[in-house]
Amino acid sequence: MRITHLWGGERWQSLLGDLSHTLALERFGPSLTERIFWQARTEKPIVALSFDDGPHPTFTRSLLDYFDREQVPATFFLIGRYVQRNPELARRIAGAAHEIGNHTWSHRMLPFLPVRQIREEISRTHEIISEVTGRMPLYFRPPMGLFTKKTVSVVEQMGYRHVVGDVYPRDPNRPGTKKIIRRVLKRVRPGSLIILHDGGNTRNLDRSQTVQAVQEIVPRLKDQGYRFVTLSELVQSDTRAGAG
Ligand SMILES: [Zn+2]
Repeated sequence: MRITHLWGGERWQSLLGDLSHTLALERFGPSLTERIFWQARTEKPIVALSFDDGPHPTFTRSLLDYFDREQVPATFFLIGRYVQRNPELARRIAGAAHEIGNHTWSHRMLPFLPVRQIREEISRTHEIISEVTGRMPLYFRPPMGLFTKKTVSVVEQMGYRHVVGDVYPRDPNRPGTKKIIRRVLKRVRPGSLIILHDGGNTRNLDRSQTVQAVQEIVPRLKDQGYRFVTLSELVQSDTRAGAG
């Protein structure tokens, strides 16, 4: 405290702040949580909807029809082998104002795979998405949200930004449409990235609760003054230094 007084509080503190920041960057690099995109730090009332595990012939199509009617953009983290199975859906996503992300080829738990296989999961998916849609995905979301320092580094080495999200209503458990809506509305804030699911590989897959919830979440958030953006737009609006 005496030193603070001696140097004049603010100046000393900002000097210390700058120094520790620089030292931390040089010695350790940015921390893992800083390297991963969770949400945008912004005052703007913007929010992004994202969907994992598609494309799926029923549920992705329903969502796309709805988004067409409402003129709302979303981001779809696609699984490579489902793009191979439903290329016309991937093209339809790309043809609208939506964004496509990479969610691996076969949805394996990356922390348990050797680096070579992690790379293959990502690159095969990258190839098929760009081949089918002509788009180059920029963002990667790990299956089941599982990551380690190693997997994040591999993702970054392959030119991807590693993404998670900050609002996850656990819709794959099918807790009921109302609960999905309530969980999202409770946690959402300016800059949020909402994680939902439109596909998957279980037999008798049912994402109808998610599809129904979305049709209520969108008008409710619009009423609250929110605007829906793609993940790229969300990342660009992040006011943190070095973000993006
Ligand atoms: Zn997934």
